[in-house]
Amino acid sequence: MNKPHIVILGAGYGGMITATKLQKKVGDNEAKVTLVNKHDYHYQTTWLHEPAAGTMLPEKTRMPINSVLDFRKINFVQDEVVEIKTEEKKVLLKDGELDYDYLVVGLGAEAETFGVPGVKEHAYSKWTVNGARQIKDHIENCFAKYNNQVEKEEGLLTFVVAGAGFTGIEFIGELSERVPQLCKQYDIPRDQVKLYVVEAAPTALPGFDPELVEYAMNLLESRGVEFKINTPIKEVTAAGVVVGEGEEIKASTIVWATGVRGSSIIERSGFENMRGRIKVEADLRAPGFSDIFIIGDCALLINEEINRPYPPTAQIAMQMAEVCASNLNALVNGGELKTFKPDIKGTVASLGGKEAIGAVGSRKLYGGTANFMKKMIDNRYLLMLGGVGLVLKKGKKPF
Ligand code: FAD
Ligand code: NAD
Repeated sequence: MNKPHIVILGAGYGGMITATKLQKKVGDNEAKVTLVNKHDYHYQTTWLHEPAAGTMLPEKTRMPINSVLDFRKINFVQDEVVEIKTEEKKVLLKDGELDYDYLVVGLGAEAETFGVPGVKEHAYSKWTVNGARQIKDHIENCFAKYNNQVEKEEGLLTFVVAGAGFTGIEFIGELSERVPQLCKQYDIPRDQVKLYVVEAAPTALPGFDPELVEYAMNLLESRGVEFKINTPIKEVTAAGVVVGEGEEIKASTIVWATGVRGSSIIERSGFENMRGRIKVEADLRAPGFSDIFIIGDCALLINEEINRPYPPTAQIAMQMAEVCASNLNALVNGGELKTFKPDIKGTVASLGGKEAIGAVGSRKLYGGTANFMKKMIDNRYLLMLGGVGLVLKKGKKPF
C-alpha cells in the first residue's frame, strides 16, 4: 500500500513544531513527511527587532533545520513555494513540484501596507533575517555618512517607526538603547538623532493594558523617542513620511510595522481569504478541503468572546501546530480529530535593555520582572523545539 505523503510548507514556528511532533508520532512506514522551506535554516521571527536594531547578531536568530529535525525521518526540500494547485493536489515550487495527500500551510505573514503608497519602495518592511540585517546596515550607514558630511543632509539621522503595535514598540525599544552607543561610536551628539513612532490609533499598543502602555511610553520618551499618536501615515516618499493632514517628517529611515497579512501564496492559490488569511474550521482545515491544514499567521481564527480575530502570534502558531500534528496522525492512523482552542498565556513585550512589559493572566509585569519572563518565554520555545541542548546553544541569559 502507498504511504500517504504529508507536505508541510514553511519552517517557521508552526511548520517546525508540526514537523517535530510528526517525527515522534508518525512512523516511517505510516507516512512520508516532507518539509519545504526557502532556506535551510529556521529563524526566530519573534527576535528580529533585536538584529534589526543591531543589539543582537542576525546569526543568533537562526539555526540549521537539520540541527533540530532528523532528516532520516523528515524529508527536507529547500525551495520556494510558488503556488498550491488544490485540484491536482500539487505544490508548485520555484525549482520543481510536489504531490501531496495532506498539506500543511505555515508560510507566515507579509507586511500589511493598507494601500499606503511608497511603502514597498521606500520603507523597510521585511521581518526576516536578511530584512533585519538590511535595516541594521542602513542605520549604521546613516551614522557613518552623517559624520562625513560637511553640509548635513536633513533627516539623515531621523528614524521613523510606522505603527506602535508590538513590533514597532519592541523595535524602537532596541533602537533607543542602541542610539547612544552609535552616537559615541560615530562621534555624533545625541541631539542630532531623532526617533519617532507614528501611530494611527488614539493610543500606542491599542487594546493593551493602559497602565502598561503608559509605562512603556514614559520609558521610551525618557530615551528620546517622540510619539505621534492619532496620526496615520498617508504616504512614504524618498524624503520621509506624509502624515495626518499633509505634514511631512523628513527621514531617511522608515521602518514599517503597521501589521501583517497572510502569505501571498494563499491569495495566488485561489483560497477564499481575508487579507491572505484563511478562516479555518475548528480542526484547522481550510473550509471545503479535507486534506489541507492552515496554521500560524496564514490562519484566521475568530475569538468568539469579542467577535474579532485572534492576533497572529507565535504563541498561537505553536499551539495550532500541536493540534495539526495530532489531527494528521488521526487521519493517517485513525482516531478522532481534535478541535483547536487557543490557550492564551499572556503577552510580554521587550522594551530594550533590561526593560519589558507584560500582562500574564491578571498580573501586570514591569521592568526587570517582565524582562526575565520574556527571556523565559524565548527559551521555552527553544526547549520545546530542540531540548536543553538548543537552549544552551541559542538561549538568552535571563539576567
Ligand atoms: P513564520 O514563523 O514567519 O515562518 C514562516 C516560514 O515560511 C519562514 O521560515 C519563511 O522563510 C517560510 N516561507 C515563507 N514564504 C515561503 C515560500 N514562498 N516558500 C518557502 N518558504 C517560505 N509573537 C508572539 O507570540 N510573541 C512575540 O514575542 C512575538 N514577537 C514578534 C516580534 C517581531 C519583530 C515580529 C515581526 C513578530 C513577532 N511575533 C510574536 C509574531 C510571530 O513572529 C508570528 O506570529 C509567527 O512567526 C508566526 O509563525 P508562522 O509559523 O505562521 O510563520
Ligand atoms: P499590529 O497590528 O499589532 O500593530 C500595527 C499598528 O500599526 C496598529 O497599532 C495600527 O493602528 C498601526 N497602523 C496601521 N496603519 C497605520 C498607518 N498608516 N500609520 C500609522 N500607524 C498605522 O502589528 P504588529 O505590531 O506588526 O504585530 C503583528 C503581530 O505580531 C500581532 O499579532 C502582534 O501581537 C504580534 N507581535 C507580538 C509581540 C509580542 O507578543 N511581544 C511582538 C511583536 C509582534
